Amino acid sequence: MSEEIASGSEVKLPRPQIDADECKSCERCVQACPKQCLVIADHLNRRGVKPAQYKGEGCIGCAICFYNCPEPYAIKILKP
Ligand code: SF4
Ligand code: SF4
Repeated sequence: MSEEIASGSEVKLPRPQIDADECKSCERCVQACPKQCLVIADHLNRRGVKPAQYKGEGCIGCAICFYNCPEPYAIKILKP
């Protein structure tokens, strides 16, 4: 299940796609993102932790979040 805070009718790319149920809430991606466009959600995922979430704007597609994530299937970067 992908999560984001701001969702408009138009999906802006690039952007991260986060599978909330694969996330362990380690916050590495949040700390590493140079654009500070990731946050920790205020709700729990199915594993009982608060997943990382895209703010909905600001991503430049650098994939630093992906490379810092310990979970292989939690983050994908969608590019135009
Ligand atoms: S791809 Fe880069 S800018 Fe986009 S969310 Fe990940 S770390 Fe942030
Ligand atoms: S680095 Fe991966 S596991 Fe850690 S909070 Fe971000 S998406 Fe979740």
